[in-house]
Amino acid sequence: MSEEIDSFQVPFLELSRLECSDVSALTSCYVDGELLEALKQKFEGHIRTCSICRELVAQTEFVVESASQIRDREIPTRVQLKLRETLKEQVGFDSPKLQTLRES
Ligand SMILES: [Zn+2]
Repeated sequence: MSEEIDSFQVPFLELSRLECSDVSALTSCYVDGELLEALKQKFEGHIRTCSICRELVAQTEFVVESASQIRDREIPTRVQLKLRETLKEQVGFDSPKLQTLRES
């Protein structure tokens, strides 16, 4: 656990209960599994009774999950080619890889 995370989370730990705005500030830490144990319990206590925050957490989990799947996937050559051609046309960025992609 880094000190940076602690100093962000400590003020929330001192609250007797979390409000919706606190939960939304902590959601990404929670989804990443970085919440301090005591704070995690307060967090889960809030989302158990608040459907709005529960929905927010579910959506964030979905986005994080989807992003981690995309990261592992190779971008298709067709898409790379299209992207680089667009870059060349629109901003004049002539990627050395463009020729290679055209030949493949
Ligand atoms: Zn809430």
